[in-house]
Amino acid sequence: MNFTYTSNPSRVIFGSGTLSKLASELSRQNLKAPLILCTPQQISQAKHVASLLPAVSGTFSEATMHTPTHITEKALEFSKSSNSDSIISIGGGSTIGLGKAISIRTGLPHICIPTTYAGSEMTPILGETQDGRKTTRSDPKILPGTVIYDVDLTMTLPAALSATSGVNSIAHAVEALYSSTANPITTLLALEGIKSLAESLPTIVSDAASADARSKALYGAWLCASCLGTVGMALHHKLCHTLGGSFNLPHAETHTIVLPHALAYNSKAIPNDVLAKLADALPGSDGDPVKGLNVLLNSLGVKRALKDFGMKEEDVDKAAEIATSNPYYNPREIKKEEIREVIRRAVVGEEAR
Ligand code: NAD
Repeated sequence: MNFTYTSNPSRVIFGSGTLSKLASELSRQNLKAPLILCTPQQISQAKHVASLLPAVSGTFSEATMHTPTHITEKALEFSKSSNSDSIISIGGGSTIGLGKAISIRTGLPHICIPTTYAGSEMTPILGETQDGRKTTRSDPKILPGTVIYDVDLTMTLPAALSATSGVNSIAHAVEALYSSTANPITTLLALEGIKSLAESLPTIVSDAASADARSKALYGAWLCASCLGTVGMALHHKLCHTLGGSFNLPHAETHTIVLPHALAYNSKAIPNDVLAKLADALPGSDGDPVKGLNVLLNSLGVKRALKDFGMKEEDVDKAAEIATSNPYYNPREIKKEEIREVIRRAVVGEEAR
């Protein structure tokens, strides 16, 4: 067995009620003036965080999707004028993205408190938007140093968003299984992460207050996020990036719709033992992981068509053109006509096969 595995060094505190450890975490790192970041929708959670600390330098509540640089500039000004010595981001990938953008520019330590399953907290990757163009970069310094997962904070994540955010997370682990840099350690994390989410998400949809299911889902999300941070992704992430950026589609919902189609395309090139392990992690798959994903998505009651989010069938050619214009790693050769068909199915909402 030959492989390379690079672990990303961060401190993870996981559980229920773990937010109460934030004050001691700051003092352990000798930090006294954290700037709290959130979206306008999560101001009350940010206020609660502030109330648990002896002091904060302020709260910046304008985090938004795609990390636009003009918001980052504004937050940077705020951080300087308030003499912040650290960043606390409480929220989903949008807020954590802003935290990363400030941290990489200033060198300030970044403590993440994730409240969705998107997984940005475990990666050294930052996507930013300037003048409508999204660029992505990777740098070990972008990786947040401390992550506090508190299951209690995910209880308010609406069931529908929990479902799509959870499938977004599963997508990281699925692509880790056939990554160009796949290795046995990441595979272990990926399979356990997929299993945890696939078993818990249907319970969350029927009972959003289930503490057990919430805990299992957040645990799975952490594992899948580790995969995203450790190994390279392929067709599925490329398609979602292209479709999301070019057709202004919502992040988690796009991942949810595309995943079974991307897997169906790639499954012809994935070794049978890998497909079998993936199928084992997906209840109801009968040995076929694409079926397993279809069963999961149907049980979650999520939308299956990108046209439901504004993408049109006329956009399919343009999307296929963009998605195949730059070469990237994929286990199966990228064939434009077949990729076009994958996108068409996702747009109209056909079942993946
Ligand atoms: P998000 O951060 O935009 O959150 C969606 C909405 O849900 C926001 O209004 C948010 O305030 C609200 N919300 C979040 N948690 C909540 C909770 N517990 N209760 C109630 N409301 C809550 O969405 P997301 O899916 O977490 O993140 C998507 C963004 O993250 C995208 O821009 C994506 O590109 C980025 N991302 C980056 C990476 C990376 O490694 N760089 C990884 C994953 C995602």
